[in-house]
Amino acid sequence: MQRGLRVELQRIILLVLALSIAGFFNGYIGLTLLVGGGLYMGWTLLKVLRLYQWLDGGGQGIPPESTGVWGDISDQLYRLQKRNIRTRDDLRAVVKRIRKITSALDEGLIILDEERSVDWWNPAAAKLLGLRKEDLYQPITNLLRTPAFVQFIQSGAFKLPLELPAPNAPQRLLQFSARVFGDNEMALVIMDITRLRQLEEMRKEFVGNISHELRTPLTVLTGYIETLQDQDMHNLPPAWPKALQQMGQQTERMNLLAEDLVMLSRLESTDVSVKTPINLDALFEPIIDNARVLSEGKHKINFTSCEQALLEGDAKELHSALSNLVYNAVKHNPEGCDINIAIKRNDAALTISISDTGLGIDPLHIPRLTERFYRADSSRATQSGGTGLGLAIVKHVLLRHNGELKIESTLGKGAAFTCRFAQH
Ligand code: ADP
Repeated sequence: MQRGLRVELQRIILLVLALSIAGFFNGYIGLTLLVGGGLYMGWTLLKVLRLYQWLDGGGQGIPPESTGVWGDISDQLYRLQKRNIRTRDDLRAVVKRIRKITSALDEGLIILDEERSVDWWNPAAAKLLGLRKEDLYQPITNLLRTPAFVQFIQSGAFKLPLELPAPNAPQRLLQFSARVFGDNEMALVIMDITRLRQLEEMRKEFVGNISHELRTPLTVLTGYIETLQDQDMHNLPPAWPKALQQMGQQTERMNLLAEDLVMLSRLESTDVSVKTPINLDALFEPIIDNARVLSEGKHKINFTSCEQALLEGDAKELHSALSNLVYNAVKHNPEGCDINIAIKRNDAALTISISDTGLGIDPLHIPRLTERFYRADSSRATQSGGTGLGLAIVKHVLLRHNGELKIESTLGKGAAFTCRFAQH
């Protein structure tokens, strides 16, 4: 039993005993007990009143001195109060620290409530978006009215960030990322990516220019090598024929590399040219002819198509992407493999799949295959004479045609590359 309660009980028993004895002597037991009990209650009520007053005053300082049950209650309240003060101070310190951290960030941070009104922002957000005090508690879509932003906030699909010119400085590019947390609140992170984009543009321009500039010296080199190879080899030193052959092969590789790089930088830096309806059967005809020449009869190439195998697009780009996939199936697979090209159409999409029964690709490599110069098997790939840029070109061409590339493969059983174009 609690000490205070015990003291209180002892006190009541003693009081009743004393009152009973006094009542016995004065002959008014009932009245004595009633008066004594009343006084005791009055005394207790006085202590409760003091406790109330202390609580009404916000529980500041030390609670009123008391013994028994009320003493215990005062002590407990005092302890609780001290713990609360400590927790409140800790929380204040955490909030202060978080404020300091978010103030030091270059990235803007805005907290939106469940109605997507602005609840809080850090100084960087205010600077990037030009926010003022009166914007607090306003719906964010009233402050940033660009349709793409309104759709971004309303869509709830925040996997990909949104890029927009800054509202108060259109020459600057901002990237918005959003995450929902807690009670359907939202954290909006804003980054100034102007410099990043400038560097990316510079990189693209540099690669585009250098690959373009390489073409002229390479053409001259190829020309001289061919002229020398046309000479009577008997008049040349014995080491020359092999050297000339290798020089020819390597310049040819560099030519292909420069061509692919020029193509990639064009795909990255220009908008899609005018799209026309392309007959895919006709597009595949020369690709399959060339693949058969490349294969030298070592692979069986099958082609199946459907009615209305038509696709809106740029013939040169689609030729480049699809031929890369077919030539890859030949280049990366040994003799005796089947290569199946199939065009299918339904109400939802047109799909072109290029599959083979060859060596396949370890699924580990699949997510990275469309990166530039990424090769699943470098020794095999170098022998095949590829540039390592084929699938990067495929990815870019498909992106420009609103298509997607799906790669499926089981090591040792072959690979399937499916291009899917949604029908509108
Ligand atoms: P490359 O010039 O090396 O062919 P790509 O970008 O076209 O470059 O292909 C990247 C890598 O993907 C290749 O090096 C090869 O390892 C793998 N690959 C592509 N197609 C196939 C295929 N049909 N079968 C097996 N591996 C393939």
